[in-house]
Amino acid sequence: MERLFKPSRVSEILRKYGFRFSKALGQNFLIDGNIVSKIVDAAEITKDDYVLEIGPGIGTLTEELSLRAKKVLSIEIDNRLKPLLQETIIDNYDNVVIHFEDVLKSDLKSLIKENFGDNKFKVVANLPYYVTTPIITRLIEDDLNLESITVMIQKEVANRFAAKPSTKAYGSLSVFIQFYSDVVYDFTVPSTVFMPKPNVDSAVVTLKIKDELPDINREKFFKVVRAGFSKRRKTIINALSTYGFDTTKDEIKEALLVSNIDEKRRAETLTSEEFIVLSINFPEI
Ligand code: SAM
Repeated sequence: MERLFKPSRVSEILRKYGFRFSKALGQNFLIDGNIVSKIVDAAEITKDDYVLEIGPGIGTLTEELSLRAKKVLSIEIDNRLKPLLQETIIDNYDNVVIHFEDVLKSDLKSLIKENFGDNKFKVVANLPYYVTTPIITRLIEDDLNLESITVMIQKEVANRFAAKPSTKAYGSLSVFIQFYSDVVYDFTVPSTVFMPKPNVDSAVVTLKIKDELPDINREKFFKVVRAGFSKRRKTIINALSTYGFDTTKDEIKEALLVSNIDEKRRAETLTSEEFIVLSINFPEI
C-alpha cells in the first residue's frame, strides 16, 4: 500500500471523499515523509511506547506512529474525517484507536486510562495552531502520566517555549512551560511540507516533562510571573507594585531583597528559579 505522506495519495483521498480543508480547524496536512519520520525520531518512539496524538487529519503521522509505537490513541475534532480515517488507518492498523471529540472538551484522564492503563505515554502531534497553547496547557496541568510532548507548532511559539532569559522571545509563557518541562527545539520546518501551505513558519519542539516539580503555590507563582512581565520595559519593582496586587511597595521591595533580586532588574532577566524564590517570599496575593 502506498504510504500516506505522498502528495499524490493525499490528493487522491481528499478528492475521493470530496474533503474541503477547514481553516478554522487549523487543517494543514503533512505531505513529506522525511518530516513525518523526523518528528517520530525526535519523540524517540519505540515499540514500548504508548502515544497520544491530537488531530490525525487523514492519518499521515498516525500511520508512522502506528508502525513504530506499541499503541496509538488519536483524538480528532472533525467528524467529516471519519470515512477517510476508516479507509487510511482503521481498516489497516489495529494498534490505533481514533476518538472523535474536541480534545479540549474530552475527559482525557478516562480516555488515557482506558487505552494506556497506568503506563506512561508520550504526546506526538502536528497541532492545530489556533489552539496550541490551550492544548499544551491542558496536557501539562492535567496531572497525567505524561513523559514528553513532541509537537509541530508555529516557529514563533516554539521560540517562546525554548527562550532563555534576556532574549526577546523570553516571557511568561517561557517561564510557564519551563516550570513543567525541559524544552528541546528539535528543528525548523518549511511551509512547503504542508497541504495547504500555512502562512507562518513551523518548528518541532519536545517538552520533556519533569519528574519532580518544586513544591510551591503554583497559582501564586504564575500570578507573580504574569505581573512581572505585564510591563516589560519597567523595572521588576515597578511592574509588580503597579500591577494591582493588594500589597504595599515596601512589602514587594522586601520580598525582592530577601530573594536576592535587584529591584532595578527587568522581569525578562529573571530565571525561572528566581521567580520561584520570589513567589515564595512574596506577600499573600
Ligand atoms: N496530523 C495531521 C497531519 O499532520 O497531516 C493533521 C494535522 S492538522 C495541522 C491539525 C488537525 O487537528 C486537523 O485534523 C484538525 O481537524 C484537528 N483539530 C483541530 N482542532 C482540534 C481539537 N480542538 N481537538 C482535536 N483535534 C483538532
